[in-house]
Amino acid sequence: MQEIYKQVFVLFMFFAIMTPLERLFALRREQKIFRAGWRTDVVHFLVDRFLIDAGSAVLILILMVFWHWIVSPDFQAGVAAQPFLLQFFEAVLVVDIIGYFYHRWTHTSPFLWKIHSVHHSPTQMDWLAGARIHPLDQIFHRAVTFVPLYALGFTKETFGAYLVFGAIQALFIHSNVRFRFGFLRWIVATPEYHHWHHSRDPEAQNKNFAGQLPFLDWIFGTAYLPKNKRPQAYGISEPMPPGYWAQLKYPFANK
Ligand SMILES: [Zn+2]
Ligand SMILES: [Zn+2]
Repeated sequence: MQEIYKQVFVLFMFFAIMTPLERLFALRREQKIFRAGWRTDVVHFLVDRFLIDAGSAVLILILMVFWHWIVSPDFQAGVAAQPFLLQFFEAVLVVDIIGYFYHRWTHTSPFLWKIHSVHHSPTQMDWLAGARIHPLDQIFHRAVTFVPLYALGFTKETFGAYLVFGAIQALFIHSNVRFRFGFLRWIVATPEYHHWHHSRDPEAQNKNFAGQLPFLDWIFGTAYLPKNKRPQAYGISEPMPPGYWAQLKYPFANK
C-alpha cells in the first residue's frame, strides 16, 4: 500500500513542477490543463507502474535463464568496474539502440501496433499524456533492453539511475512546452523532437523512434526535425476507447 502513496506523491510533484512550466512556456496556450482524457491518464500514471514492474520482472527472469551465459563473467566484472557515469551513458546508448528497433517494430507489426497505439492515442500533448501507455508495451520494451544490460554486467546503481532518468525524461518530452534547445535537440530527445513522433502530419509519419538519442534516427534515416515548423495534429486514425480498462483490453478486442 505504501508504494501507491509514493506514486500519488510523485504525481503531485510532477503536477506542481510541470503545470507552471507548461503555463509559462506553452507551445499551445489554448490547451486546458484538465484536457479531455486526463482522468484516464492519471489512472495510467498511478496503476501502470505496478503492472510494468511485476510483468517485466517475471519476463526478465525467464529471459535471463537463456541469456546469462552469453557474456563471460570477466567481461561483466569489467563493465561493473567502470565509473558510474560512464556506465550510465553506456546503458543509455545500449537501451536506446535496441529500443529504437523495438519501437520501429511496434509501428509495423499489427499486434504490437495495437498495444503501442494506446500511447499514440492522445490528441493533445502534455506531460501527463506521456503516462498513457499499455503496460505490455513497456514490459516488452524493458525485456528486450534490460536483459542485455543485465547480461553485460551493468550494476544495480546504473539500473536505478537509468529508471529515474528515463521516467522523468519520458514525461518531459511529451510536455506542452515550446523550448527548442539549439543543437542539443540532435543529441538528447526534447519535446519538440518527440511531438513529431506523435504527430498526424503526413511528412512526419514513422519518424523519430529513438527514446533518448535523436542522432540514432539521423543515422538510420528516420529523423524529422524541421526548423520552423510544429505538428498540426496529434493522434491515430483508429478510434481508441477513452477509459482505462477499455484501453488495457483494446489490443485483444476483436475489432
Ligand atoms: Zn511510437
Ligand atoms: Zn510518446
